[in-house]
Amino acid sequence: MQYRRLGKSGLQVSVLSFGAWVTFGNQLDANAALELMAAAYEVGCNFFDNAEAYASGRAETIMGEALSRSGWRRDSYIVSSKVFFGSLEKPSRLQRGLSRKHIYEACYQAIQRLQCDYLDLYFCHRPDAKVPIEETVRAMTELIWRGDVLYWGTSEWSAQQLMEAYAVARQYNLIPPTMEQPEYNMFHRYRVEVEYSRLYNEDTLGLGTTVWSPLASGLLTGKYNEGIPADSRFNLPGYEWLKEKLTGSEAERNLERVKQLAQLADELNTSLPKLALAWCVKNSHVSTVITGASKVSQVQENFTALDVLPSLTDEVMARVDTILGNKETGVYGANT
Ligand code: NDP
Repeated sequence: MQYRRLGKSGLQVSVLSFGAWVTFGNQLDANAALELMAAAYEVGCNFFDNAEAYASGRAETIMGEALSRSGWRRDSYIVSSKVFFGSLEKPSRLQRGLSRKHIYEACYQAIQRLQCDYLDLYFCHRPDAKVPIEETVRAMTELIWRGDVLYWGTSEWSAQQLMEAYAVARQYNLIPPTMEQPEYNMFHRYRVEVEYSRLYNEDTLGLGTTVWSPLASGLLTGKYNEGIPADSRFNLPGYEWLKEKLTGSEAERNLERVKQLAQLADELNTSLPKLALAWCVKNSHVSTVITGASKVSQVQENFTALDVLPSLTDEVMARVDTILGNKETGVYGANT
Protein backbone atom coordinates (compact mmCIF):
# COMPACT_ATOMS: atom_id res chain seq x y z
CA MET A 1 0.00 0.00 0.00
CA GLN A 2 1.06 3.57 -0.53
CA TYR A 3 0.01 6.49 1.63
CA ARG A 4 -0.45 10.13 0.69
CA ARG A 5 -1.04 13.27 2.69
CA LEU A 6 -4.63 14.42 2.54
CA GLY A 7 -3.89 17.67 0.72
CA LYS A 8 -1.71 19.92 2.84
CA SER A 9 -2.87 18.29 6.08
CA GLY A 10 -0.59 15.89 7.94
CA LEU A 11 -3.07 13.01 7.67
CA GLN A 12 -1.62 10.01 5.81
CA VAL A 13 -4.38 8.21 3.96
CA SER A 14 -3.99 4.95 2.02
CA VAL A 15 -4.19 5.63 -1.74
CA LEU A 16 -6.82 2.91 -2.00
CA SER A 17 -9.70 3.15 0.44
CA PHE A 18 -13.13 1.58 0.79
CA GLY A 19 -16.66 3.02 0.74
CA ALA A 20 -20.18 1.93 1.63
CA TRP A 21 -22.41 3.47 -1.08
CA VAL A 22 -24.98 1.06 -2.59
CA THR A 23 -23.39 -2.05 -1.08
CA PHE A 24 -23.80 -1.62 2.71
CA GLY A 25 -27.47 -2.16 3.54
CA ASN A 26 -28.48 -3.26 0.02
CA GLN A 27 -26.04 -6.06 -0.77
CA LEU A 28 -24.08 -6.53 2.47
CA ASP A 29 -25.07 -7.03 6.12
CA ALA A 30 -22.65 -6.36 9.00
CA ASN A 31 -20.95 -9.78 8.77
CA ALA A 32 -20.33 -9.49 5.06
CA ALA A 33 -19.32 -5.84 5.40
CA LEU A 34 -16.71 -6.76 8.00
CA GLU A 35 -15.34 -9.50 5.73
CA LEU A 36 -14.84 -6.98 2.91
CA MET A 37 -13.49 -4.25 5.19
CA ALA A 38 -11.07 -6.77 6.74
CA ALA A 39 -9.82 -7.84 3.31
CA ALA A 40 -9.02 -4.18 2.64
CA TYR A 41 -7.65 -3.35 6.11
CA GLU A 42 -5.31 -6.33 6.09
CA VAL A 43 -3.56 -5.00 3.00
CA GLY A 44 -3.15 -1.49 4.39
CA CYS A 45 -6.44 0.30 3.70
CA ASN A 46 -6.88 2.86 6.48
CA PHE A 47 -9.93 4.84 5.31
CA PHE A 48 -13.59 3.80 5.29
CA ASP A 49 -16.06 6.21 3.70
CA ASN A 50 -19.72 6.66 4.55
CA ALA A 51 -22.58 9.18 4.55
CA GLU A 52 -25.81 9.84 6.43
CA ALA A 53 -27.76 9.21 3.24
CA TYR A 54 -26.36 5.80 2.29
CA ALA A 55 -29.24 3.30 2.64
CA SER A 56 -30.98 5.92 4.82
CA GLY A 57 -28.40 5.66 7.60
CA ARG A 58 -28.23 1.84 7.53
CA ALA A 59 -24.84 1.88 5.82
CA GLU A 60 -23.42 3.74 8.83
CA THR A 61 -25.15 1.41 11.30
CA ILE A 62 -23.66 -1.60 9.48
CA MET A 63 -20.19 -0.06 9.33
CA GLY A 64 -20.45 0.84 13.04
CA GLU A 65 -21.31 -2.77 13.89
CA ALA A 66 -18.51 -4.07 11.68
CA LEU A 67 -15.96 -1.69 13.22
CA SER A 68 -17.02 -2.55 16.75
CA ARG A 69 -16.70 -6.29 16.01
CA SER A 70 -13.39 -5.87 14.18
CA GLY A 71 -11.31 -5.31 17.29
CA TRP A 72 -9.22 -2.78 15.36
CA ARG A 73 -7.75 0.09 17.35
CA ARG A 74 -9.63 3.34 16.72
CA ASP A 75 -6.33 5.10 16.00
CA SER A 76 -5.53 2.66 13.15
CA TYR A 77 -8.21 3.82 10.69
CA ILE A 78 -10.01 6.90 9.38
CA VAL A 79 -13.80 6.94 9.19
CA SER A 80 -15.97 9.55 7.49
CA SER A 81 -19.54 10.70 7.16
CA LYS A 82 -21.25 13.23 4.92
CA VAL A 83 -24.10 15.61 5.55
CA PHE A 84 -26.62 17.14 3.15
CA PHE A 85 -29.20 14.66 1.82
CA GLY A 86 -30.53 13.61 5.25
CA SER A 87 -30.80 10.09 6.63
CA LEU A 88 -34.56 9.74 6.29
CA GLU A 89 -36.25 8.61 3.10
CA LYS A 90 -38.32 11.79 3.08
CA PRO A 91 -36.42 14.35 5.17
CA SER A 92 -38.17 17.59 6.09
CA ARG A 93 -36.51 20.92 5.30
CA LEU A 94 -34.89 20.83 8.77
CA GLN A 95 -33.57 17.32 8.32
CA ARG A 96 -31.35 17.96 5.32
CA GLY A 97 -29.03 20.63 3.93
CA LEU A 98 -26.09 22.53 5.37
CA SER A 99 -27.70 24.68 8.06
CA ARG A 100 -25.85 24.77 11.36
CA LYS A 101 -28.79 22.80 12.86
CA HIS A 102 -28.68 19.91 10.41
CA ILE A 103 -24.88 19.81 10.31
CA TYR A 104 -24.78 19.40 14.12
CA GLU A 105 -27.61 16.90 14.34
CA ALA A 106 -26.37 14.81 11.41
CA CYS A 107 -22.87 14.74 12.90
CA TYR A 108 -24.06 13.41 16.26
CA GLN A 109 -26.40 10.90 14.61
CA ALA A 110 -23.55 9.63 12.40
CA ILE A 111 -21.28 9.29 15.45
CA GLN A 112 -23.97 7.18 17.13
CA ARG A 113 -24.58 4.98 14.10
CA LEU A 114 -20.87 4.50 13.48
CA GLN A 115 -20.31 3.77 17.19
CA CYS A 116 -17.35 6.09 17.37
CA ASP A 117 -16.56 9.12 19.55
CA TYR A 118 -15.63 11.41 16.65
CA LEU A 119 -15.51 11.50 12.85
CA ASP A 120 -12.09 11.76 11.26
CA LEU A 121 -13.48 13.30 8.08
CA TYR A 122 -16.80 15.08 7.69
CA PHE A 123 -17.98 16.16 4.24
CA CYS A 124 -20.66 18.55 3.02
CA HIS A 125 -22.10 16.04 0.53
CA ARG A 126 -23.23 18.77 -1.91
CA PRO A 127 -23.29 22.59 -1.88
CA ASP A 128 -26.44 24.15 -0.39
CA ALA A 129 -27.51 27.29 -2.23
CA LYS A 130 -30.04 28.08 0.54
CA VAL A 131 -27.42 28.45 3.29
CA PRO A 132 -24.71 31.14 3.42
CA ILE A 133 -21.29 29.53 3.06
CA GLU A 134 -20.20 31.40 6.20
CA GLU A 135 -22.78 29.49 8.32
CA THR A 136 -21.52 26.16 6.99
CA VAL A 137 -17.82 27.02 7.42
CA ARG A 138 -18.55 28.22 10.96
CA ALA A 139 -20.53 25.09 11.91
CA MET A 140 -17.82 22.78 10.54
CA THR A 141 -15.11 24.78 12.32
CA GLU A 142 -17.00 24.61 15.62
CA LEU A 143 -17.38 20.81 15.29
CA ILE A 144 -13.61 20.62 14.89
CA TRP A 145 -13.05 22.92 17.87
CA ARG A 146 -15.37 20.69 19.93
CA GLY A 147 -13.38 17.58 18.93
CA ASP A 148 -16.32 15.90 17.18
CA VAL A 149 -14.67 16.14 13.75
CA LEU A 150 -10.97 16.21 12.87
CA TYR A 151 -11.00 17.44 9.24
CA TRP A 152 -13.89 18.81 7.20
CA GLY A 153 -14.38 18.86 3.48
CA THR A 154 -16.86 19.04 0.64
CA SER A 155 -18.20 16.82 -2.11
CA GLU A 156 -18.95 18.08 -5.62
CA TRP A 157 -18.49 21.75 -4.79
CA SER A 158 -17.34 23.94 -7.65
CA ALA A 159 -13.86 25.51 -7.55
CA GLN A 160 -15.58 28.85 -7.01
CA GLN A 161 -17.55 27.58 -3.99
CA LEU A 162 -14.38 26.11 -2.53
CA MET A 163 -12.53 29.42 -2.99
CA GLU A 164 -15.41 31.19 -1.28
CA ALA A 165 -15.23 28.80 1.69
CA TYR A 166 -11.48 29.40 1.85
CA ALA A 167 -11.93 33.19 1.75
CA VAL A 168 -14.60 33.12 4.48
CA ALA A 169 -12.39 30.95 6.67
CA ARG A 170 -9.45 33.32 6.22
CA GLN A 171 -11.62 36.40 6.87
CA TYR A 172 -13.13 35.13 10.14
CA ASN A 173 -10.23 33.01 11.37
CA LEU A 174 -12.15 29.78 10.79
CA ILE A 175 -10.90 26.44 9.38
CA PRO A 176 -11.04 26.01 5.58
CA PRO A 177 -11.97 22.67 3.99
CA THR A 178 -9.11 20.17 3.85
CA MET A 179 -10.48 17.87 1.18
CA GLU A 180 -13.06 17.50 -1.55
CA GLN A 181 -14.77 14.28 -2.70
CA PRO A 182 -15.34 14.49 -6.48
CA GLU A 183 -16.18 11.80 -8.99
CA TYR A 184 -13.06 10.75 -10.86
CA ASN A 185 -12.62 7.95 -13.35
CA MET A 186 -11.53 7.46 -16.95
CA PHE A 187 -14.88 8.80 -18.18
CA HIS A 188 -15.13 11.72 -15.79
CA ARG A 189 -12.00 13.87 -15.59
CA TYR A 190 -12.66 17.58 -16.03
CA ARG A 191 -13.28 18.66 -12.43
CA VAL A 192 -10.26 16.93 -10.89
CA GLU A 193 -7.87 17.60 -13.76
CA VAL A 194 -8.90 21.08 -14.87
CA GLU A 195 -11.46 22.87 -12.70
CA TYR A 196 -9.63 22.27 -9.42
CA SER A 197 -6.11 22.66 -10.79
CA ARG A 198 -5.45 25.96 -8.96
CA LEU A 199 -6.76 24.60 -5.63
CA TYR A 200 -4.00 22.04 -5.07
CA ASN A 201 -1.35 24.70 -4.43
CA GLU A 202 -0.23 24.50 -0.81
CA ASP A 203 0.03 28.30 -0.63
CA THR A 204 -3.74 28.45 -0.86
CA LEU A 205 -6.21 25.67 -0.17
CA GLY A 206 -3.77 22.79 -0.68
CA LEU A 207 -6.83 20.68 -1.43
CA GLY A 208 -6.82 16.92 -0.85
CA THR A 209 -9.14 14.68 -2.89
CA THR A 210 -10.92 11.45 -1.92
CA VAL A 211 -12.27 10.48 -5.33
CA TRP A 212 -15.38 8.36 -5.93
CA SER A 213 -16.70 5.79 -8.42
CA PRO A 214 -13.27 4.99 -9.88
CA LEU A 215 -14.83 2.14 -11.90
CA ALA A 216 -17.86 4.23 -12.98
CA SER A 217 -20.08 1.97 -10.87
CA GLY A 218 -18.60 -1.11 -12.53
CA LEU A 219 -18.73 0.00 -16.18
CA LEU A 220 -14.93 0.14 -16.20
CA THR A 221 -14.65 -3.53 -15.28
CA GLY A 222 -16.12 -4.66 -18.60
CA LYS A 223 -18.95 -6.52 -16.80
CA TYR A 224 -21.62 -4.57 -18.73
CA ASN A 225 -20.14 -5.15 -22.19
CA GLU A 226 -22.60 -7.90 -23.08
CA GLY A 227 -25.65 -6.80 -21.04
CA ILE A 228 -26.46 -6.56 -17.35
CA PRO A 229 -25.34 -9.47 -15.14
CA ALA A 230 -28.02 -10.59 -12.66
CA ASP A 231 -25.89 -10.01 -9.56
CA SER A 232 -24.61 -6.56 -10.54
CA ARG A 233 -25.31 -3.05 -9.25
CA PHE A 234 -27.24 -1.99 -12.36
CA ASN A 235 -29.76 -4.73 -11.59
CA LEU A 236 -30.51 -3.65 -8.02
CA PRO A 237 -33.97 -2.30 -7.20
CA GLY A 238 -33.74 1.46 -6.64
CA TYR A 239 -30.66 1.81 -8.84
CA GLU A 240 -32.37 1.43 -12.22
CA TRP A 241 -31.28 4.99 -13.04
CA LEU A 242 -27.72 3.67 -13.40
CA LYS A 243 -28.87 1.83 -16.55
CA GLU A 244 -28.85 5.23 -18.27
CA LYS A 245 -25.09 4.77 -18.43
CA LEU A 246 -25.82 2.00 -20.97
CA THR A 247 -28.18 3.87 -23.27
CA GLY A 248 -27.55 6.43 -25.99
CA SER A 249 -24.75 7.06 -28.42
CA GLU A 250 -22.22 8.21 -25.79
CA ALA A 251 -22.86 4.97 -23.85
CA GLU A 252 -22.19 2.95 -26.99
CA ARG A 253 -18.93 4.81 -27.51
CA ASN A 254 -18.00 4.19 -23.87
CA LEU A 255 -18.63 0.45 -24.19
CA GLU A 256 -16.40 0.46 -27.26
CA ARG A 257 -13.74 2.31 -25.23
CA VAL A 258 -14.10 -0.25 -22.42
CA LYS A 259 -13.40 -3.04 -24.92
CA GLN A 260 -10.26 -1.28 -26.16
CA LEU A 261 -9.12 -0.62 -22.58
CA ALA A 262 -9.66 -4.31 -21.74
CA GLN A 263 -7.40 -5.20 -24.66
CA LEU A 264 -4.76 -2.80 -23.35
CA ALA A 265 -5.06 -4.33 -19.86
CA ASP A 266 -4.54 -7.73 -21.46
CA GLU A 267 -1.36 -6.53 -23.17
CA LEU A 268 -0.13 -5.27 -19.78
CA ASN A 269 -0.92 -8.66 -18.23
CA THR A 270 -3.43 -7.19 -15.87
CA SER A 271 -7.20 -6.82 -15.53
CA LEU A 272 -9.32 -3.85 -16.56
CA PRO A 273 -10.48 -3.00 -12.99
CA LYS A 274 -6.86 -2.86 -11.85
CA LEU A 275 -5.83 -0.72 -14.83
CA ALA A 276 -8.73 1.69 -14.22
CA LEU A 277 -7.93 2.03 -10.51
CA ALA A 278 -4.18 2.43 -11.05
CA TRP A 279 -4.94 5.11 -13.66
CA CYS A 280 -6.74 7.15 -10.96
CA VAL A 281 -3.90 6.63 -8.47
CA LYS A 282 -1.39 7.82 -11.07
CA ASN A 283 -2.78 11.35 -10.71
CA SER A 284 -0.77 12.82 -7.84
CA HIS A 285 -3.57 15.26 -6.99
CA VAL A 286 -5.65 12.30 -5.91
CA SER A 287 -5.08 11.65 -2.20
CA THR A 288 -7.11 8.45 -2.12
CA VAL A 289 -9.26 6.45 -4.53
CA ILE A 290 -12.37 5.22 -2.72
CA THR A 291 -13.14 1.77 -4.06
CA GLY A 292 -16.46 -0.04 -3.74
CA ALA A 293 -17.14 -3.78 -3.83
CA SER A 294 -19.92 -6.27 -3.20
CA LYS A 295 -17.68 -9.33 -2.97
CA VAL A 296 -14.43 -10.21 -1.17
CA SER A 297 -12.91 -11.36 -4.48
CA GLN A 298 -13.43 -7.83 -5.88
CA VAL A 299 -11.67 -6.28 -2.86
CA GLN A 300 -8.79 -8.71 -3.32
CA GLU A 301 -8.47 -7.82 -6.98
CA ASN A 302 -8.88 -4.07 -6.53
CA PHE A 303 -6.37 -3.78 -3.70
CA THR A 304 -3.62 -5.21 -5.89
CA ALA A 305 -4.12 -2.40 -8.42
CA LEU A 306 -0.92 -0.63 -7.36
CA ASP A 307 1.02 -3.47 -9.02
CA VAL A 308 0.00 -1.89 -12.32
CA LEU A 309 1.59 1.51 -11.59
CA PRO A 310 5.04 0.63 -13.01
CA SER A 311 3.35 -0.30 -16.31
CA LEU A 312 1.74 3.12 -16.63
CA THR A 313 4.51 4.69 -18.65
CA ASP A 314 4.01 7.94 -20.58
CA GLU A 315 3.41 5.83 -23.66
CA VAL A 316 0.70 3.73 -21.99
CA MET A 317 -0.95 6.83 -20.50
CA ALA A 318 -0.97 8.37 -23.98
CA ARG A 319 -2.62 5.23 -25.37
CA VAL A 320 -5.30 5.47 -22.69
CA ASP A 321 -5.86 9.12 -23.64
CA THR A 322 -6.18 8.17 -27.29
CA ILE A 323 -8.77 5.50 -26.46
CA LEU A 324 -10.72 7.82 -24.18
CA GLY A 325 -10.44 10.94 -26.32
CA ASN A 326 -11.21 13.18 -23.32
CA LYS A 327 -7.84 14.49 -22.18
CA GLU A 328 -8.01 18.16 -21.22
CA THR A 329 -4.68 18.77 -19.52
CA GLY A 330 -1.65 16.88 -18.26
CA VAL A 331 -1.53 16.59 -14.48
CA TYR A 332 0.31 13.38 -13.86
CA GLY A 333 3.15 13.76 -11.42
CA ALA A 334 5.28 11.63 -9.18
CA ASN A 335 3.62 9.92 -6.23
CA THR A 336 4.06 11.90 -3.05
P1 NDP B 1 -16.89 1.94 -8.26
O1 NDP B 1 -17.13 2.85 -9.40
O2 NDP B 1 -15.53 1.36 -8.15
O3 NDP B 1 -18.01 0.80 -8.31
C1 NDP B 1 -17.98 -0.25 -7.35
C2 NDP B 1 -18.86 -1.40 -7.84
O4 NDP B 1 -18.32 -1.97 -9.03
C3 NDP B 1 -18.88 -2.52 -6.83
O5 NDP B 1 -19.82 -2.32 -5.79
C4 NDP B 1 -19.17 -3.72 -7.69
O6 NDP B 1 -20.56 -3.72 -8.01
C5 NDP B 1 -18.36 -3.40 -8.95
N1 NDP B 1 -16.97 -3.87 -8.85
C6 NDP B 1 -16.00 -3.39 -8.05
N2 NDP B 1 -14.85 -4.04 -8.25
C7 NDP B 1 -15.08 -4.96 -9.19
C8 NDP B 1 -14.28 -5.93 -9.81
N3 NDP B 1 -12.98 -6.07 -9.50
N4 NDP B 1 -14.85 -6.72 -10.77
C9 NDP B 1 -16.16 -6.59 -11.10
N5 NDP B 1 -16.98 -5.68 -10.53
C10 NDP B 1 -16.44 -4.86 -9.58
O7 NDP B 1 -17.11 2.71 -6.88
P2 NDP B 1 -18.46 3.21 -6.16
O8 NDP B 1 -19.40 3.81 -7.13
O9 NDP B 1 -18.93 2.13 -5.27
O10 NDP B 1 -17.87 4.39 -5.29
C11 NDP B 1 -16.89 4.10 -4.28
C12 NDP B 1 -17.20 4.89 -3.04
O11 NDP B 1 -17.15 6.29 -3.33
C13 NDP B 1 -18.60 4.67 -2.44
O12 NDP B 1 -18.70 3.53 -1.67
C14 NDP B 1 -18.74 5.93 -1.61
O13 NDP B 1 -18.03 5.78 -0.40
C15 NDP B 1 -18.05 6.97 -2.48
N6 NDP B 1 -19.05 7.72 -3.30
C16 NDP B 1 -19.24 9.05 -3.02
C17 NDP B 1 -20.13 9.80 -3.72
C18 NDP B 1 -20.29 11.23 -3.39
O14 NDP B 1 -21.23 11.89 -3.89
N7 NDP B 1 -19.44 11.81 -2.55
C19 NDP B 1 -20.97 9.22 -4.80
C20 NDP B 1 -20.67 7.82 -5.04
C21 NDP B 1 -19.75 7.12 -4.33
P3 NDP B 1 -21.42 -5.07 -8.25
O15 NDP B 1 -20.59 -6.24 -7.90
O16 NDP B 1 -22.62 -4.94 -7.37
O17 NDP B 1 -21.81 -5.03 -9.70
